[in-house]
Amino acid sequence: MRKKLSEHFALSEFIAESERELFKSHNLYPLWEARLRVLAHELEVIRTHIGGPIIVTSGWRSPVRNKAVGGSRTSGHMTGWAADFQRPGWDARRLFDLVKSLGKRGLVTYDQLIGYPAHVHLSVDARSRMEAWTV
Ligand SMILES: [Zn+2]
Repeated sequence: MRKKLSEHFALSEFIAESERELFKSHNLYPLWEARLRVLAHELEVIRTHIGGPIIVTSGWRSPVRNKAVGGSRTSGHMTGWAADFQRPGWDARRLFDLVKSLGKRGLVTYDQLIGYPAHVHLSVDARSRMEAWTV
């Protein structure tokens, strides 16, 4: 069954297929899922403002996978607090600018927003520092 985190986002979209068993069998599963739900809520707001679908390219990652894809050692991807995403048909800079503007207007809350060449990274942990930069 497709477990929903929010109206338009399913849990499976945030976990690579090869890691789903690992995710579900871990004792932190309920905590990670709750965090991904917070993340999905922010993505829903973004989705509403861009008027179309968002593709999550990477959500939760095991430490092994995080290392393999070159993620930071303290990456929010390992705690369920972060996701990378794209808007089909938009370049990532346009998406970054939009999310940043939603943050300035108080519509989206994040800890860190990072604009990469091909995707936007959003983390939502409780610090909510509203830091935004491009690389
Ligand atoms: Zn990321």
